[in-house]
Amino acid sequence: MTRDRDPNCLFCRIVAGEIPSDQVFADDQLVAFRDITPRAPTHVLVVPREHIRSLAEVAESDAPIAGHLITATAEIARREGLAERGYRVVANVGRWGGQTVDHLHLHLMGGRSFTWPPG
Ligand code: 5GP
Ligand code: ZN
Repeated sequence: MTRDRDPNCLFCRIVAGEIPSDQVFADDQLVAFRDITPRAPTHVLVVPREHIRSLAEVAESDAPIAGHLITATAEIARREGLAERGYRVVANVGRWGGQTVDHLHLHLMGGRSFTWPPG
């Protein structure tokens, strides 16, 4: 399944380069850039280029991009020097999940320890 780009979507606009971002990784399927309000010393958002609204909208046919999102996030964590001590990966989904941008993204956070469960 492919979804059309949403011209009003913040992350579609960042992916397209219409809004600047501090990019740390990009390939033909996804883009990663630093969160504008970092909640940890390293806080990167890993975003598919395709406008998938949330994890709740990921279909079985999206398995290739979903898998790539995860492996790329682990690779970015290695490049950011987070792998040895560990890090947190979060997907906020929907209103109760705390999602504020309706374009699928993983938060990669590291450089400090995290508590469990999150608030
Ligand atoms: P969510 O709350 O949807 O899980 O995550 C959205 C994230 O996007 C938040 O952590 C927020 O700080 C970040 N964010 C919002 N606007 C911008 C922006 O214009 N640029 C960047 N780099 N991050 C943004
Ligand atoms: Zn979008």
